[in-house]
Amino acid sequence: MALAAARCGAHAIGLINTSALACSDPTRLAASRPPKLAPINAAPASSCSDWLSPSLSCANAVGSLPPAKIEKSGQMKRLRSALKRRFQWRHSQAPPPAPCSRIQGGRDTCTRFFDLPDSAAVPWRVPSVSRLIAVPAFEDNYFWLVAESDGRCIIVDPGAAKPVIDALRSHGLQPSAILITHHHADHTGGIEELQDAFALPCFAPNDARIPGRLQRVTEGEQVRPPGSNATFEVIATPGHTRSHVSYLGDGRLFCGDTLFSLGCGRLFEGSPAQMLKSLDCLAALPDLTEVCCAHEYTAANGAFALAVDPDNDALRARAKQVGQLRRRSESTLPSSIGAERACNPFLRVRDSAVVEAVLRHDQATVASDAVDVFAALRRWKDGFQT
Ligand SMILES: [Zn+2]
Repeated sequence: MALAAARCGAHAIGLINTSALACSDPTRLAASRPPKLAPINAAPASSCSDWLSPSLSCANAVGSLPPAKIEKSGQMKRLRSALKRRFQWRHSQAPPPAPCSRIQGGRDTCTRFFDLPDSAAVPWRVPSVSRLIAVPAFEDNYFWLVAESDGRCIIVDPGAAKPVIDALRSHGLQPSAILITHHHADHTGGIEELQDAFALPCFAPNDARIPGRLQRVTEGEQVRPPGSNATFEVIATPGHTRSHVSYLGDGRLFCGDTLFSLGCGRLFEGSPAQMLKSLDCLAALPDLTEVCCAHEYTAANGAFALAVDPDNDALRARAKQVGQLRRRSESTLPSSIGAERACNPFLRVRDSAVVEAVLRHDQATVASDAVDVFAALRRWKDGFQT
């Protein structure tokens, strides 16, 4: 594996994108120690490294999440141990390098890179062995490509074939497999054309509404596409649809329409209890897990989140950053689990500020538990006008 050759890291302005941080000597990576979280610094920040540290610290300070029952479940123990094995941490006292972002591949992709000094040991970042490429499509979808160093890539949720094929060509990639999170057409519309063109295996949840020649996946399964170095763990995340799954691999979470940055998916088929359980499972993942959701909804979600939780410093910093990115027509993704735990009201339904806001908004709500608060918050968002 050409780890040493990939001396680069993808980077979202203001929020560290750890993709492609396949840097330096792997033995040194393995020997390095986990980073310690910095002290809480709630001041809004404008630069990448400035942003991530406070948000992680704030996330760390959210002591009530995740609930003990989720923490103790076999599923979460398995996920945590899998991630512990897979993550290789780097840590140093060296100052982070100055970001020098640039768009790779023109305006049709959202992958940004910055160069790192050879020996730079960069705190707060998880080196992934693969590179992440977002392919914008339709009005606000992203199809994700996970590119390995040998030029093969996995395609996540291709709602159409053409944008994917164009991106494969422009990046010189050869697809090895498709992963599908749920049956909606904007996530599955390109499966058959891509399979006809490339003879790809397609992994998908057990749902007859998904087209194509499929290999069905279920909760807890490890998906290893043929000829690929990547392994993805399947997490059942019902709520948006009844058969929705998410995939966790190489420090990244592909969560379709379950978790969005600063929001969550609508409940088309699932109950509030199902969706909250799914979100709790995702929120229990390590802070640095990249959140690769399927839509660019962050600005609208941020407006709602601020209406709910206006005194949340981490949220205000994220909303400011999102505004800057969107004014430049840049992507706000991927986010991170740490940032979402600090900022996303749907992951904070046990936080007193969110509970009080929900009760103030809907005085008919009886908030006897987190599910009631979540259900009322979701109803509020469904009717929210920016
Ligand atoms: Zn959907």
